[in-house]
Amino acid sequence: MISIQGVGVSPGLACGPLYFLHPAENVIRRAAAADSDAEWERFLSAQARTVEQLGILAEQVRQRSGEEAAALLEGHQLLAEDPDLTDGVEARIREQGLGAEAAVMDTGTALAEEFASLDDPYLQARAADVKDVCRRIAACLAGGDGAAAELPGPVILAAEDLSPSETVQLDKTRLLGLITAGGSVNGHTAIMAGTMGIPAVIGAAGIMDAGPEGCEVLLDGGDGVVCVAPDPETKKAFLEKQERQLAQDERMKSLRGQKSVTRDGQSLRICCNIGGPEDVPAVLENDGEGVGLFRSEFLYLGRNDYPDEETQLAAYRQVLSAMKDREVIIRTLDIGADKQIGYFGLPREENPALGNRALRICLARPELFRTQLRALYRASVYGRLGVMFPMVASVWEVRESLAMCEQVKRELRKENLPFSENVQIGVMVETPAAAIMSDRLAQLVDFFSCGTNDLTQYTLACDRQNRELKRFSDPRHPAVLRLLKMVADNAHRHNIRMHICGEMAADLSLTETFLAMGVDELSVSPRFVLPLRQKVRATDLSSCRQSLMEELMTDRL
Ligand code: PEP
Ligand code: MG
Repeated sequence: MISIQGVGVSPGLACGPLYFLHPAENVIRRAAAADSDAEWERFLSAQARTVEQLGILAEQVRQRSGEEAAALLEGHQLLAEDPDLTDGVEARIREQGLGAEAAVMDTGTALAEEFASLDDPYLQARAADVKDVCRRIAACLAGGDGAAAELPGPVILAAEDLSPSETVQLDKTRLLGLITAGGSVNGHTAIMAGTMGIPAVIGAAGIMDAGPEGCEVLLDGGDGVVCVAPDPETKKAFLEKQERQLAQDERMKSLRGQKSVTRDGQSLRICCNIGGPEDVPAVLENDGEGVGLFRSEFLYLGRNDYPDEETQLAAYRQVLSAMKDREVIIRTLDIGADKQIGYFGLPREENPALGNRALRICLARPELFRTQLRALYRASVYGRLGVMFPMVASVWEVRESLAMCEQVKRELRKENLPFSENVQIGVMVETPAAAIMSDRLAQLVDFFSCGTNDLTQYTLACDRQNRELKRFSDPRHPAVLRLLKMVADNAHRHNIRMHICGEMAADLSLTETFLAMGVDELSVSPRFVLPLRQKVRATDLSSCRQSLMEELMTDRL
């Protein structure tokens, strides 16, 4: 038996056969590329990202497995930038008109053949390395374009790391659990596992060498423990724990249909975060009071091209119809940072989290924004729609977005396409700038939704993708809590709603604090709805409101 301690990011217990997912062997587009310059830029950007990723990986491997293993990855870093490889790719793009993926894979094959034909056994062995490196670059290039991994049956999937676009394509009906050797707690892969209700552990160092594929593995997405080939005693204890968990889930079901209201009468709406229509059954099963965050960008991930207006309309309509009279808040496209999509052709950035992402891309590409807004307004007749804008930092961004909404409404009127006049508009407060400007922003919109994953990242200057910073990036930091209080006060002063939809919304130790602030809605992964409702119903704020507010304002860390 091998036991690995990782970090549990999506609670739940899973037991099943281990299945390794190796870096995607993507479907290579062989069609001639229309724009060689663009393909060349894409290659350069993917090459640089690969070098960067290999550097990070080498550092992690150095700490856990020593110098020799790290040196291998550093060798791969050099190979990724090898002039023969770079020149070979450029020639294939410019002279043969190939797309970047095909050019890099063909160059890899040709170089590997050259190495393999040499007499020196050391150099012969480099053939596998060069292929490996080219596969990495191609996987990076693919971004969201990779083919879905075929899962052989119900499995626990292990991977070195998984991108959000790979995760979104996994067949959830065959996925019992997820384990990654890398990853970060607030990265979107972990968040999506939570939304999908799939038990998941990240940072399980050594999982890729822990056993033959197909052997039994136990996974605890709560405490982060993974057991490969468990001994009978460990398995027995695990199954007992699983039974207790099931019994507790069953007891929670009695809270369905109940109100989320404190003993002293304060209501709090508990809604759900979803990635697409496929998550709605879990919302209904857990009695979510609405959808507080539909991450619409997942419609754009895992595809080869932009979803058109009709495709988006169908997805929004499906969710709105299924939720009937419960509000559905759809956030406009939020790509960039860890959600990279190949076909957007975005240039490489030194600091993608501080770069061209989310609303910034929409404002720079009005056609893209317009298509999404048209689909959203057209879907608005099928339910109670809210639309919110992510990554706002300035008042003018909201004014421009609202003007775009008005333009879309005028167009639809002219085309006789129906839409609701009651669409609620919101701003995501996830930059300190938006929190500080919330008194002004509140005058423009109907609600705020605080994205505390990003708000924490930007307030504390801690990259949410970096697991090493865990100690420094606590969302319970008084600076973050003070901003939330400020946003709640400004919202209520202007009679608009204040929601929280980041991961900390599910933290039961903060529920009383959020209630004391007057938060109107928490939006969480479906499985957290009923435990939160239980917590709310057990709370009596009258005795502790003042002390909670005082505590909030002091540095208790
Ligand atoms: C957030 O930042 O808290 C949020 C809800 O959005 P995302 O996690 O998708 O960036
Ligand atoms: Mg965010």
